[in-house]
Amino acid sequence: MNKNDLFTTEIVDMTEDGEGIGKIDGFTVFVKDAVIGDVIEGKLIKAKKSYGYGRLMKVLTPSIDRVVPACPVAAPCGGCQLQALSYEGQLRFKEKRVRNHLRRIGHFEDIPMEPIIGMEGEPFRYRNKAQFPVGKNKDGRIITGFYVGRTHSIIPMDDCMLGLPVNRQVTKTVTDFMEEYHIEPYDEGNHRGLVRHILVRCGFHTGQVMVCLIINGNKLPHDKELVSRLQAAVPGLVSVSLNVNREKTNVILGRELVNLYGPGYLEDMIGDVRFRISPLSFFQVNPVQTEKLYGKALEFAGLTGDEIVWDLYCGIGTISLFLAQKAKQVYGVEIIPAAVENAKENAALNQMNNAEFFVGKAEEVLPEKYRQSGGQMAADVIVVDPPRKGCDEALLETMVKMAPKRIVYVSCDSATLARDLRYLCDRGYAVRKVQPVDMFPGTVHVETVCLLGNRNAKPDTRVKLSVDTEELQRVKNGEKI
Ligand code: SAH
Repeated sequence: MNKNDLFTTEIVDMTEDGEGIGKIDGFTVFVKDAVIGDVIEGKLIKAKKSYGYGRLMKVLTPSIDRVVPACPVAAPCGGCQLQALSYEGQLRFKEKRVRNHLRRIGHFEDIPMEPIIGMEGEPFRYRNKAQFPVGKNKDGRIITGFYVGRTHSIIPMDDCMLGLPVNRQVTKTVTDFMEEYHIEPYDEGNHRGLVRHILVRCGFHTGQVMVCLIINGNKLPHDKELVSRLQAAVPGLVSVSLNVNREKTNVILGRELVNLYGPGYLEDMIGDVRFRISPLSFFQVNPVQTEKLYGKALEFAGLTGDEIVWDLYCGIGTISLFLAQKAKQVYGVEIIPAAVENAKENAALNQMNNAEFFVGKAEEVLPEKYRQSGGQMAADVIVVDPPRKGCDEALLETMVKMAPKRIVYVSCDSATLARDLRYLCDRGYAVRKVQPVDMFPGTVHVETVCLLGNRNAKPDTRVKLSVDTEELQRVKNGEKI
């Protein structure tokens, strides 16, 4: 087949990125916005020898799973990939994605997978965080919106079906303010202009709203005026800040924060635990599903109140404090110092004194502490929740040496999850449960929580030993137990 050829095909599968896959006499064609089960007419826009990319021209027979996207810019916007697929279809897609990764990358056969936990009710308006790029349209008016998939051109859009309606008040207030005071949006082309992004975070349970402007500079002219306009327009506003990012980079946030109003954080609840979240800290974006995810992590940890638990990649201590409700002692490790500060504050805020936090790379802190203990440091349960790239091997190696009874692996990328599970299962662990959770409806992303059991260790004696050694140490130190 050649470029610009028209073709008709049935979409028989979908790629991990959510593109439809059609087959034409052994030639594979990938079509964005086509849904499994559709019969479509397409035009080939790029052709290689055995495969190519097609543009969807017409849906001839729609799939039974095809729906009209709720969002008017679903097709061009790079944020969602699966809005034309029914929610049921999305959930099946995600289960299959996890299963395929575990099979192909992890070489697991009998996978103890539970049905995915989807959202109840409408799978929209679930995000507590939004980041809008700021730019100009052809007429020179300031706009906010979303990037067109895989590009940096902005589609003007002051609302997002995944976000909260309050985002609209915030973006309108900021862009009106910029127009009035002639404050320029950032231009990637020449690295000029000031305002790059608007970040909005909301506490679902508390109703608190935080606004942060990411700027190519360290001050914003007329900042007090912006604060008072936001106060007037945005119910629940508790924090306004600037984030300095002067780099030529795609990374949205810089390191430095300038506080304009409020305490520099907002608060929200997950279950019974209260959290302080600053603009730089990671916090799960779908609070309704987060509670289910952490609930599963807690269930899989199987805590009785006697356990020593390590929570690696702990962020602001969300999972750590969830577990601390039922564990004897929790230790958290996180690379971002501000997040660790939040984690400590969060422990105090919830009157939990059985959680301790360390700053550093998990793959350095844990091996180092293990070495210092002369190989005596033990854990009953280890929880990991790494970013997409998964766990570093140095960390996995130490985890195996520590031989916890259970490992709970929370993953936002099932490909690296599969790789890491294989490592652990070749060294004494077995996958006991795999639980996908849909945290990101409309997109191809899926979160998975996984329980591993130790096949070799005699957990009870070892645990007892570890507790005894620790208690002994504390008695030696003169502490009361
Ligand atoms: N468990 C937390 C955070 C998970 S996101 C929650 O559920 O909210 C992953 C976290 O890992 C982020 O906070 C990130 O800053 C942190 N991180 C990334 N690389 C790390 C590393 N090498 N060591 C420790 N933490 C790391």
